[in-house]
This record gives sequence, structure tokens and C-alpha cells, in this order.
Amino acid sequence: MSVLESISSSEAIALEEKHGAHNYHPLPVVLSKGKGVYVWDVEGNKYYDFLSAYSAVNQGHGHPQIIGALTEQAQKLTLTSRAFYNDLLGKYEKYVTEYFGFDKVLPMNTGAEAVETAIKLARKWGYEKKGIPEGQAKIIVCHNNFHGRTVTIISASNDPVATNNFGPFTPGIVSIPYDDITALRSELKDANVAAFLVEPIQGEAGVYTPDLDYLKNAAELCRSNNVLFIADEVQTGIARTGRLLATCGNCSCTDKNCSGTPEVKPDVLILGKAISGGVFPVSAVLANDAVMEVITPGTHGSTFGGNPLACAVAIAALEVVRSEDLAGNAERLGIIFRNEMQALVDKTDLVKLVRGKGLLNAIVINDTEDSSTAWDICMALKQNGLLAKPTHGNIIRFAPPLVMTETELRECVAIIAKTLETFEKTR
Ligand SMILES: *Cc1c(COP(=O)(O)O)cnc(C)c1O
Repeated sequence: MSVLESISSSEAIALEEKHGAHNYHPLPVVLSKGKGVYVWDVEGNKYYDFLSAYSAVNQGHGHPQIIGALTEQAQKLTLTSRAFYNDLLGKYEKYVTEYFGFDKVLPMNTGAEAVETAIKLARKWGYEKKGIPEGQAKIIVCHNNFHGRTVTIISASNDPVATNNFGPFTPGIVSIPYDDITALRSELKDANVAAFLVEPIQGEAGVYTPDLDYLKNAAELCRSNNVLFIADEVQTGIARTGRLLATCGNCSCTDKNCSGTPEVKPDVLILGKAISGGVFPVSAVLANDAVMEVITPGTHGSTFGGNPLACAVAIAALEVVRSEDLAGNAERLGIIFRNEMQALVDKTDLVKLVRGKGLLNAIVINDTEDSSTAWDICMALKQNGLLAKPTHGNIIRFAPPLVMTETELRECVAIIAKTLETFEKTR
């Protein structure tokens, strides 16, 4: 079979089953096209994308401005490695640091790599600036976190599926309950703590939104204990939660909705996913000079990090976020969406609650965690033209591209309502 020949859904699934490692359990839909908020399967069925590749495609599929930047740059220069300078990296570094309000950026590719980078940065800072004795640095993380899949990062995980039989694990990681300022205060008494690594909203865990003051209090506690506050905004960042960043505070963002929650400025900001609009793997670690200056030639690197193609794509993707006010749209549509979902929660006993911020939301299904109900609902939603995926058993995450219109959102709400209704009857 030629790789360019068209293929049926069942053929494509069979190929993956036979030749690919089974590290995912996808919904049985085979996509071959995307545009804006829509994706199409190989049979030509059209769906609303309500996952956005885990919030990587915030700007919508195939955004002309981003694809334009990609194709234009691809004709010129794609990769130089950092052995030489390229004409776009400096421009991108200026752009992205001004955009988010930091002195410096360290460019990487995937989210996990950026988290790894932040951990290395924090440890080095801990030894060289804070004076932690050699080999003693600690990083505090939160229960039920998701920061990626490398050995060091899963060393911070308490998910047995992610960690089982992958040990031995990286030492120097302490895990405390999320949204628990008392636990943080107590752990910060240890003078060997270099950093606190946290998701502003725990996306993978099921869109857990912490107390309104949690991040602000945590950041202040870190500051007063000379500990770096590291925000993993790989999923929550880039307008997803209705602001440029979920920690959006005294950054230089232009988002007029920025004043709603207390200001939090992380010492280290980790971005990935939507920084490229889902077009290309691009990630970034941002920090001010006092922290980033511990990185010197040879101490860290990546062949692809900061490549010209990534720089061109990321600038275009961030431009779109600003010029189309995606944060404002996410904020506005998110309020409508949660109100509509709350109406469903009030009406049916199938859905226990809705939570989230901006267009990062989840509904919790009223069933046991190991039940197949959330999965079955997602299968029914697919049948009705909307793609979403359960996360952690009985929770369904809803995260459409941020370029959605109110009319489209209301159509999606109708699909979800209709699906839940028929579902309840057949239960
Ligand atoms: C997706 C994600 C990562 C890992 O990103 P990859 O690109 O998959 O390596 C890290 N942190 C958070 C919060 C994420 O959502």
C-alpha cells in the first residue's frame, strides 16, 4: 500500500495496532483534516474538536497566518543547530520575552523538555545562588500533577500507571497536596528547597481549579523563603483560561480581563503546546537574569531548540492570540459554557458538577471512577459530531479551540445536552 493512498478508519486503526507501541488508547476516530474549530475523519464526517490536542491548538486548526509563517520559513531555513546563529532566534527571543515580561528565554521543543529544563535551572540556581549544599537540592511538587513523561518528571508523579516499573526514580522531589498552603508552608521550612513546581490549574488531573488566593499565597511564601516559584503553564497558558496566562499578573500582557484574580508573577514560566498553535513542537522556559544567568555555554542544550522554523511559527501563533483577542473570547465563551453546563448539572443526575476557567473546563460524571460511563458519553458525543476525551475515569475535559464563535459554542452545548439526555434514557 502506498503511504499516500487513502485509507479507511478501520485500516488506519489496524495499522497503529499492529505497528505502533500501545502507549495510548485513542477514541476510535481517524482524522485527516482540520480547519478552525472543526476536524474531519477519513470518511468525511465533520466534528467539533473539543480537545484541541490538549490545548495546543488554541488558535484553531490550520490558521492561515501560522501556516503561512511555517511554509514561508520552511522554504528558507529550517535548522542550523545552536552551533551557529540564525537570523530568527534573536528576534523571537526579544518578541517572546517582551510578550510575557521576562528578561530571558531558553527555547526547547516539547513540554516535558521545558519542565526538565526548569528543574535543572532551579537546581543550578539553588546551588550557585541560594547556597544549597551539593547534591541536596529539593523541588516541591503537588499530588496528581502532570508535567510530562521523562524519568525525572514521572519521579514527581503519584499516578501508578505513569510510574509503575519505570524506577529507579530521580531523588530530590517532595510531593505535597495541591491547593494546600499549609502543606507548602511546612515543606518550605527545609532550607534545601530550590523550587516549587505547580500547575495553575491541574488539567490532566481533571481541571482542578485551586482556591482564588492559592497561587498568590504560594508565590509569596516562595519569595519569602528564597524559593523559586515555577509555573507549568504548558496547558493553561496562551489564552486558554481567559487570560494570557492562568497566573497572569504583573506581566506585560495586554489582556483587559487580567485584573480578576490576584497578581502572580512566577520566577520561572514554562510554556509549550499552544505557543506554536499546535503546528510544531515548541516550548519555552522564561526567567529573569538573576535566575537564567546560571546557564552557561555547554550546561544545557537541544539540537532543535530555537530552530528558525519554530521561531517563525511561534511568533505568528502568539500574534494571532493577541490580534484576535483569544483570551477575551475564551473568558466570554467560558462563562456561557459553564452556565449552560450548570443548567445540565441542575437538570440531570448524570453530571455531578462543572468546573474550569475560560475554555478549559470539565464535567464530572456521576459514576464510579473505574466506570466506562465517561468513555461511553464521549463515544456518543462523537456520534453526534463532537470530539472530547475522558480524563481520569469519570471526568470529561472540554477545551475547544479559542477561535470559536458564540453561535458555534451554543451549537456544541446543544450537542452535549442532547447526548447526555439520550444517554440518561439508555442508562
Ligand atoms: C502536556 C503537558 C506537559 C508535557 O508536554 P509534552 O509536550 O507532552 O511533553 C507538561 N505539563 C503540562 C501541564 C501539560 O499539560
